[in-house]
Amino acid sequence: MNAKHVAIFTTLVLTFSISRAQKSETRWIKHQISTLSGPSMHGRGYVNKGGEKAAAFIRRNFKEFGLLPFEKDSTYYQPYTMPINTFPGDVLMKINKKILEPGPDFIVYGGSSAFNTEEKRIKLHRINLGNVKDSAAWAKVKSKFDTTKAYCLKNSDTVTKYLKQPSMRTFAKEFPAGLFILPKHGKLTWTANMETVPATIIYAEDTVLPKRPRRAAVRIETKFIPAFKNQNVLGYVPGTEKPDSFIVFTAHYDHLGRMGKDALFPGAHDNASGTALVLYLARYFAAHPQKYSIGFMLFSGEEAGLVGSKHYAAHPVFPLSQIRQVVNLDMVGDAKDGITVVNGDTREKEFAMLEDINSQKAYVPKIVKRSQTQNSDHYSFSEKGVPAIFIYGNGTKPYYHDVFDKAAELSMEHIDGLAKLLEDFTGSLQGK
Ligand SMILES: [Zn+2]
Repeated sequence: MNAKHVAIFTTLVLTFSISRAQKSETRWIKHQISTLSGPSMHGRGYVNKGGEKAAAFIRRNFKEFGLLPFEKDSTYYQPYTMPINTFPGDVLMKINKKILEPGPDFIVYGGSSAFNTEEKRIKLHRINLGNVKDSAAWAKVKSKFDTTKAYCLKNSDTVTKYLKQPSMRTFAKEFPAGLFILPKHGKLTWTANMETVPATIIYAEDTVLPKRPRRAAVRIETKFIPAFKNQNVLGYVPGTEKPDSFIVFTAHYDHLGRMGKDALFPGAHDNASGTALVLYLARYFAAHPQKYSIGFMLFSGEEAGLVGSKHYAAHPVFPLSQIRQVVNLDMVGDAKDGITVVNGDTREKEFAMLEDINSQKAYVPKIVKRSQTQNSDHYSFSEKGVPAIFIYGNGTKPYYHDVFDKAAELSMEHIDGLAKLLEDFTGSLQGK
């Protein structure tokens, strides 16, 4: 074997072993996503101890990697309480004689009150809200709602135009007690709610509803928990030279949980993917300590309004001023078309670092920037003046806050590339 052949052989072996190592890393990340979004985690929400099980899973990983806990009790947990409306019991609906499936066919607005027609089918009063032309007309319709009756309101989207802040939350407050079925064309999106409204609001998929919905039988059981016990999971790898400087990777591990016994919201993309990536980085940096300390913070309560990260930012376990950079990961399970960096416009230096690394190594197809958003946990840090970016994947996956956000539906494309990009980025942040 001559020198030339040796060189070729070595390159081949190297390429082979790198791709094999990468493959096993990718497999590891995918496995975490599958576990976290599997049925045993119950959607990592507020029923069947789903969130608690996910937290315990994260803690087991932290312990296994050898991360240090911040708290003296070594639990890695930062406990707090929050109010939450839950659906642990029955969520059933029949229109005319047709049984609808909770999840794909209908969702109950997360802040709804309970409603039970006691096995009877009650009359539905049909109103077409498409005829509402202004807020005065809507006020007139509203004033006629009778709390003893049930309604099917067509074209409810029209009304949201006349509201000041047209969101599901503000819209839900417009209704008195009673049953309101709102046919919807297209995607049904569920939410986690910390406050309840008097009404029971059901968004139903237009195409599965009978043409003339005349009667409805429903049993919607809810349980409002004023002080639900929740926890963030925190750990770190101490820095070898500057242990008081922190780079912190964050992700929310919670999702929406279950809507009744039958509808599971797996949250594979949102945000088992980000949680798995933070776990991967925790495992990596535990084996490769850095100059700076590297923190790993997995928050809960995000879906209800960034509750866990807000709690953390108000009760940090070390001074927030020691954080050099927060990197928040949310919905990174599909980066087919690359990634977006929120705050990439104001964190110019960091954005340039990411671009620079990627132009050399082509880890992800494309990196784009976007200005500040309030839709994930980075915001709790930005608000306190901590440098924070939020990275999400750009793919083709249409599932969001629904029963279809499953691991099997995720492309997981370039999630390994993103992992490598973040390893290198951590190096750049420390001036390597
Ligand atoms: Zn979400």
